Amino acid sequence: MKPAPFEYHDPRSIDEAVALLARHGADAKVLAGGQSLIPLLAFRLARPAVIVDINRIPGLDYVRNEHEGLAIGALARQRQLERWALDGSPFLCTALRHVGHAAIRTRGTIAGSIAHADPAAELPALLLCLDGSVMARSSSGQREIPARELFVSHLTTAVRADELITEVRLPGLPDGAGWGFLEVARRHGDFALVGVAAVVALRNGRIAQARVALFGCGAAPVRATPAEQALAGQAPTRGTFAAAAREAAGTLTPDADLHASAEYRRSVAHTLMVRALAAASERARGPG
Ligand SMILES: Cc1cc2nc3c(=O)[nH]c(=O)nc-3n(C[C@H](O)[C@H](O)[C@H](O)COP(=O)(O)OP(=O)(O)OC[C@H]3O[C@@H](n4cnc5c(N)ncnc54)[C@H](O)[C@@H]3O)c2cc1C
Repeated sequence: MKPAPFEYHDPRSIDEAVALLARHGADAKVLAGGQSLIPLLAFRLARPAVIVDINRIPGLDYVRNEHEGLAIGALARQRQLERWALDGSPFLCTALRHVGHAAIRTRGTIAGSIAHADPAAELPALLLCLDGSVMARSSSGQREIPARELFVSHLTTAVRADELITEVRLPGLPDGAGWGFLEVARRHGDFALVGVAAVVALRNGRIAQARVALFGCGAAPVRATPAEQALAGQAPTRGTFAAAAREAAGTLTPDADLHASAEYRRSVAHTLMVRALAAASERARGPG
């Protein structure tokens, strides 16, 4: 199938892009890497009247150390961050390598994946786990949207139709913290059936802080906040992690589909959460 007809714009500045979004509102769609939008257009699952292609806006393809973490421009490709992360950010590198295949990551942007908000996608969960945020610009100004307020539902974020995500802010790990990132997919490169990103920081042999974000477990990625609170102050043992994971998995409301029942997803979420927390606490003890 071919996309339905649309008006095409390729603005050369952010101001020009947001002016187009202000003019066309929900009739317009931003085109970044096109790895999610183009298939939607081709299948006519999306039929925007206007496409605002941001690829010709200069200066948006940066990855910088800023704000005690990373500032990632709207046109930074997933592969670009993966290469950047090879040197010292194994958490990011591991998460990124679960996103599709190299060819997809070469075009796909970090911001595009986050804006697309597929509930089974890795990068929204990573942003949520690291307490990141996005900068959204419209013709009336700029605002920062924290990840906890960003992901509303299936393919839906708090970014308005007249706003452009200009930057993704990804904080670093807390000092000395370890990480775990695991997912189950039918084949390598597929979207996850279920996945978990976890961070654990230890103090005096106890859990000082735990963070867990689950994906593929509902309409949006979820933070297991009650489980995180229950883990604080506990000894980092398999038993502790299993109890927290049991509580977290019990509250999940995953979809059932052709590939997995809701019960199966809950069960996998439990297992992955225990393993990801154990891996994170192991890494928290050692270097890296
Ligand atoms: C075969 C295949 C396998 C894939 N596997 C995975 C996978 O395993 N895991 C995974 O997470 N993803 C996967 N993807 C999706 C891929 O990661 C996409 O790159 C990503 O979802 C969208 O990024 P993009 O830059 O291509 O955005 P686009 O496709 O250009 O846009 C996606 C959506 O985001 C909006 N958007 C984009 N940029 C902005 C912005 N700056 N501001 C506001 N809105 C914006 C667009 O309007 C559109 O609605 C796969 C894709 C393919 C084709």
